[in-house]
Amino acid sequence: MPFKPPGNCPVCDEHVPRGLVSCPQCGSCARSGWNDEIGADGLDLPEDPSEFDYDEFVRREFGGGEGAVAKGLSFWQWVGIILVGIMVLMMLMSAGR
Ligand SMILES: [Zn+2]
Repeated sequence: MPFKPPGNCPVCDEHVPRGLVSCPQCGSCARSGWNDEIGADGLDLPEDPSEFDYDEFVRREFGGGEGAVAKGLSFWQWVGIILVGIMVLMMLMSAGR
Protein backbone atom coordinates (compact mmCIF):
# COMPACT_ATOMS: atom_id res chain seq x y z
CA MET A 1 0.00 0.00 0.00
CA PRO A 2 1.23 3.50 -0.78
CA PHE A 3 3.14 5.42 1.78
CA LYS A 4 2.00 8.92 2.62
CA PRO A 5 3.96 11.45 4.68
CA PRO A 6 4.30 12.13 7.49
CA GLY A 7 5.99 8.92 8.38
CA ASN A 8 9.14 6.99 7.93
CA CYS A 9 10.40 6.51 4.41
CA PRO A 10 9.86 2.91 3.33
CA VAL A 11 13.13 3.01 1.43
CA CYS A 12 15.66 4.49 3.85
CA ASP A 13 13.57 4.80 7.02
CA GLU A 14 14.25 8.52 7.24
CA HIS A 15 11.42 10.52 8.73
CA VAL A 16 9.48 12.36 6.03
CA PRO A 17 7.72 15.42 7.46
CA ARG A 18 4.16 16.28 6.69
CA GLY A 19 3.76 18.28 3.49
CA LEU A 20 6.73 16.81 1.70
CA VAL A 21 6.00 14.65 -1.30
CA SER A 22 9.44 13.09 -1.50
CA CYS A 23 11.94 11.76 0.96
CA PRO A 24 14.56 14.37 1.89
CA GLN A 25 17.07 11.62 2.44
CA CYS A 26 16.87 9.34 -0.59
CA GLY A 27 14.56 11.35 -2.84
CA SER A 28 12.05 8.61 -3.39
CA CYS A 29 8.53 9.87 -3.87
CA ALA A 30 5.00 8.85 -4.67
CA ARG A 31 5.85 8.88 -8.35
CA SER A 32 8.54 6.28 -7.84
CA GLY A 33 6.09 4.29 -5.78
CA TRP A 34 8.07 4.71 -2.58
CA ASN A 35 10.24 1.78 -3.42
CA ASP A 36 13.93 1.62 -3.96
CA GLU A 37 13.87 -0.04 -7.37
CA ILE A 38 13.22 3.06 -9.43
CA GLY A 39 15.21 5.35 -7.17
CA ALA A 40 18.21 3.08 -7.28
CA ASP A 41 18.05 2.82 -11.04
CA GLY A 42 18.83 6.51 -11.24
CA LEU A 43 16.03 7.52 -13.55
CA ASP A 44 16.75 11.09 -12.47
CA LEU A 45 13.23 11.83 -11.39
CA PRO A 46 12.65 15.32 -10.06
CA GLU A 47 12.98 15.44 -6.32
CA ASP A 48 9.65 17.10 -5.83
CA PRO A 49 6.93 16.66 -8.46
CA SER A 50 5.07 19.73 -7.25
CA GLU A 51 8.13 21.83 -8.07
CA PHE A 52 8.51 20.22 -11.44
CA ASP A 53 9.78 22.97 -13.70
CA TYR A 54 6.45 24.72 -13.50
CA ASP A 55 7.97 28.17 -13.15
CA GLU A 56 10.39 27.53 -15.93
CA PHE A 57 7.61 26.15 -18.09
CA VAL A 58 5.49 29.26 -17.57
CA ARG A 59 8.46 31.50 -18.19
CA ARG A 60 9.28 29.68 -21.40
CA GLU A 61 5.70 29.70 -22.62
CA PHE A 62 4.47 33.13 -21.62
CA GLY A 63 7.16 35.37 -20.26
CA GLY A 64 9.92 34.64 -22.70
CA GLY A 65 10.09 38.07 -24.31
CA GLU A 66 10.46 37.26 -27.98
CA GLY A 67 7.41 35.64 -29.49
CA ALA A 68 5.41 35.82 -26.31
CA VAL A 69 1.92 36.32 -27.67
CA ALA A 70 0.11 36.43 -24.36
CA LYS A 71 2.39 38.94 -22.74
CA GLY A 72 0.43 41.51 -20.78
CA LEU A 73 -2.85 39.69 -21.20
CA SER A 74 -4.03 37.11 -18.75
CA PHE A 75 -5.76 33.93 -19.77
CA TRP A 76 -9.16 35.24 -18.71
CA GLN A 77 -8.67 38.45 -20.63
CA TRP A 78 -8.12 36.38 -23.75
CA VAL A 79 -11.24 34.35 -22.94
CA GLY A 80 -13.24 37.56 -22.63
CA ILE A 81 -11.95 38.89 -25.93
CA ILE A 82 -12.77 35.66 -27.71
CA LEU A 83 -16.26 35.51 -26.18
CA VAL A 84 -17.01 39.07 -27.26
CA GLY A 85 -15.78 38.23 -30.73
CA ILE A 86 -18.07 35.23 -30.94
CA MET A 87 -21.05 37.29 -29.77
CA VAL A 88 -20.38 39.98 -32.37
CA LEU A 89 -20.07 37.30 -35.03
CA MET A 90 -23.38 35.76 -34.02
CA MET A 91 -25.12 39.14 -34.04
CA LEU A 92 -23.78 39.87 -37.50
CA MET A 93 -24.88 36.49 -38.77
CA SER A 94 -28.40 36.79 -37.39
CA ALA A 95 -28.70 40.34 -38.69
CA GLY A 96 -27.70 39.24 -42.18
CA ARG A 97 -30.71 37.00 -42.61
ZN1 LIG B 1 14.05 7.75 1.90
